Amino acid sequence: MNSVAQATIYPVTCPGCDTITSQRADQILQRPYVNCRRCDTTITLNESQLNRIRRTIADLNECLQRAPVSATRAEEQA
Ligand SMILES: [Zn+2]
Repeated sequence: MNSVAQATIYPVTCPGCDTITSQRADQILQRPYVNCRRCDTTITLNESQLNRIRRTIADLNECLQRAPVSATRAEEQA
């Protein structure tokens, strides 16, 4: 797992009490259960939610990989 997944916090809404509990994306992908911080219900994430997290991480990774290149180009032009 990469550093983007470790730095990404994913909010999960409890179906029982509507409280949002945030958990690190890499932890959710390893074990797709989040315990509600209010009522301690175990929330299981479904496959489409997990795919959304994977896609978000992939997008962030792409942005991070592109960023240093464009910064270098901007310096060259200046
Ligand atoms: Zn709850």
